[in-house]
Amino acid sequence: PGHGVVRASQIDSLVPHFPLCMRTLHTALRRDSHLRYFGRQQYGLFLKGIGLSVEEALVFWRTSFSKCTDEKFSKEYRYNIRHNYGLEGNRRNYKPRSCAQILTDAAPGANEYHGCPYRHFSEDNLVVAIQGLGVSDQGVLRGVREDVRNKQYHVACTRVFEATHKAVGANSPVGVGVGMESVTHPNLYFDRSVQFAR
Ligand code: SF4
Repeated sequence: PGHGVVRASQIDSLVPHFPLCMRTLHTALRRDSHLRYFGRQQYGLFLKGIGLSVEEALVFWRTSFSKCTDEKFSKEYRYNIRHNYGLEGNRRNYKPRSCAQILTDAAPGANEYHGCPYRHFSEDNLVVAIQGLGVSDQGVLRGVREDVRNKQYHVACTRVFEATHKAVGANSPVGVGVGMESVTHPNLYFDRSVQFAR
């Protein structure tokens, strides 16, 4: 996938390339057929970054919000989606949020799923989520616990990338390089994962 070539119907199949923050949002969206404002912003801009056009974004959100009427969708959600693509209001072309931005945003409240799971999940819930990605190596799980206690959230995310992509190299602070020093942007995580699968 490159810019402007991802279709709404492809998103589910691309989820294995998403970092935990975006998987968390996607899972909540599929379960609830809804996401609150900050989640829509964080996830919507990420999807824009992986190449979803505004037309496909409108299809994606309309079909995902399956319990919502057309009228409510047009009134409450359409504007924000177009706004993120610079087509409404101040016409700014918004960029996907970096890890640093996501980590300093307001923490998610009840029924909100934005933010960085490495920072906002309890340690035990985080470990369960990572095991759900297929990581069972106790050394990796211990390492993640240490990273988050040291507030090294992006290092924990990099560690999980490495464990799920089984790369061998020397560029990483964590050990087995994946061609990036550490995860600094969800879209970088995605790009590297897609490259790795080629
Ligand atoms: Fe997402 Fe960045 Fe947190 Fe990884 S470190 S889960 S990419 S916000």
